[in-house]
Amino acid sequence: MPVTPVNSALLFLMLISLKVASQNIPVSPPPGVIRSIKVYKGLVKNNPAAGMTDVKKSMPGLMLDLRYATKNNFMHQNLYPALTTTYLRRAAVQALDSVEKELRTVGLGLKIFDAYRPYSVTRKMWELIGDERYVANPAKGSGHNRGTTVDLTLVQLATGQELDMGTGFDNFSDTAHHTFTHLPEEVLHNRKLLRTTMERHGFVALETEWWHYSLAGSGNYDLLDISFKKLKKLVSQN
Ligand SMILES: [Zn+2]
Repeated sequence: MPVTPVNSALLFLMLISLKVASQNIPVSPPPGVIRSIKVYKGLVKNNPAAGMTDVKKSMPGLMLDLRYATKNNFMHQNLYPALTTTYLRRAAVQALDSVEKELRTVGLGLKIFDAYRPYSVTRKMWELIGDERYVANPAKGSGHNRGTTVDLTLVQLATGQELDMGTGFDNFSDTAHHTFTHLPEEVLHNRKLLRTTMERHGFVALETEWWHYSLAGSGNYDLLDISFKKLKKLVSQN
């Protein structure tokens, strides 16, 4: 059978249905994953807000607990190399900086669990888990791959202690949903404070994960598959 655009679209759909049925066959990457530094640089030149930025350098007051750079995550393995910072698009860092400034006035700060995640790591997670309830489907990619999504919580600035959110990070039970209200008043207040502050500065919540926020218009940014090592070098040239 000749490979025509219609045939290849049909083949793609068949592969997707196979994937849904079996949940363990790796899928092809969606179009538009940026792997080339040259292509990335060209895009950023036309849109400086899309430049990947060292989050800790821009916001030194942030606390980091980058779980995928440790074994302290739901997959119990290091998916990232050791990291001392993380990365987000400039527009996302600017929005997050406004969130931090507002929280500081009430003695609170932010702790980040995850931000940018190279697309190849999303594929690896899918190969290991293969279930959309827990990991992003690489056929769609994740806001984390776009550098516009951040997983975070609130901390007391004076002690660094996390506020009680009812569950930990990457708890995939319905207790982590925003609609779950069978929780102590204090937990509901803390979740609401994080959500309203993030939303006020341009982030959008995910209903099933209280810690996960994406910059509005996240889909306008390309999926990236640039390693942390390359990104570190790239960002240091900024
Ligand atoms: Zn997330």
